[in-house]
Amino acid sequence: GLLKDGEARPTVFAQMSARAAAHGALNLGQGFPDDAPPTAVSEAAVDAIREGRNQYPPGAGEAVLREAIAEHQARWYGLRWDPASEVLVSTGATEALAATLLALVQPGDEVITLEPFYDQYAAIIALAGGVHRTAPLTSRTDETTGDLVLEVDEDALRDAFSPRTRAVLVNTPHNPTGLMLAQSTLQLIADEAARHDALIVTDEVYEHLTFGAAHRPLASLPGAQDRTISISSAGKTFSVTGWKIGWLTARPELITAITGVKQWLTYSSGAPFQPAVAAGLAMPPSAFHELAEDLRGRRDLLTDGLREIGFRVSVPEAGYFTVADASPLGEPDADALAERLPAEAGVVAIPLTAFYREGQAGAATAYLRMAFCKSRATIEQALEKLEAWA
Ligand code: PMP
Ligand code: GLN
Repeated sequence: GLLKDGEARPTVFAQMSARAAAHGALNLGQGFPDDAPPTAVSEAAVDAIREGRNQYPPGAGEAVLREAIAEHQARWYGLRWDPASEVLVSTGATEALAATLLALVQPGDEVITLEPFYDQYAAIIALAGGVHRTAPLTSRTDETTGDLVLEVDEDALRDAFSPRTRAVLVNTPHNPTGLMLAQSTLQLIADEAARHDALIVTDEVYEHLTFGAAHRPLASLPGAQDRTISISSAGKTFSVTGWKIGWLTARPELITAITGVKQWLTYSSGAPFQPAVAAGLAMPPSAFHELAEDLRGRRDLLTDGLREIGFRVSVPEAGYFTVADASPLGEPDADALAERLPAEAGVVAIPLTAFYREGQAGAATAYLRMAFCKSRATIEQALEKLEAWA
């Protein structure tokens, strides 16, 4: 096949969740929440099933959801998309990313991502026959707090563009670091993409889980909308990662090309979940803010606790995860540590190396990714266990 051995094995998230189950360990590995979805969202799915919306929906998505996606983009970001021709519903952001790259990347085309990157990107670029170029994040210690800070190296990002760049795949808020790209970085990407006539593909699945500044989509930068495919998902925002409803917005020619691939991957996406996600997207802003605020409390619980145990922690601006440096605890090899932690401490975490190409992790070989999208009780127990282990 087209995948390297590492890409064809079960993902690190599947492996680590299996390990959590085998050891009865607390799972701060795979990013899925303990929370129930908002009641309006789960009730709408149950109603849809009872009403008999259980057969194939239209391949492009139910009209009610496509309209809700367009309205959401207009209300939150001032972006106008035609729900009939510029919105496509997908089976999670995962399928949106796959269909987009398979449709638009030809063998030999270069695709740029930051590094670390969400693991799917390397696999899909490989499946499309593309060449993966990366721009590494840099890390430093904050002088006042002693915390870990991960940042974009704008020069490296600019240098990653070339005449062969077909697309830049931008994940902000970022998994695994929770970093939100600065305005200057978004502008740099928009400018370089225009200069190289490259597409911009965004992965915005954490768009509503921000703890300070609001998310700003790349498509909203002047001149960027026409070359941007914006991707998001209901999974994180509404705590429904198992529903696998995502979407993308782009100009009609791009949507047509991507739909051409999507029809052979899944044809269509979970019928009763589509009106339910439409109900979620229509919730008032205060409901979104409450979800993020609650998550922020759990971020602080986990990062404060890890800092007290002796990790050097990053305090992310968004998302589900903190990055914790284990080297102050005398553990410079996070791969080995993540192997041992389920049995030794009863806690599962993901080594940050899972988000780097082979041999590229540098200082991050000592870093673990830990999820705080779990209940306060789970986080508190995990901290007690890590404290006892350290
Ligand atoms: N992109 C990122 C950055 C993710 O963290 C995830 C995992 N939730 C996905 C895409 C996949 O999203 P979905 O579950 O909607 O397929
Ligand atoms: N996005 C989730 C994470 O980063 C995992 C999704 C998956 O298992 N494919 O943990």
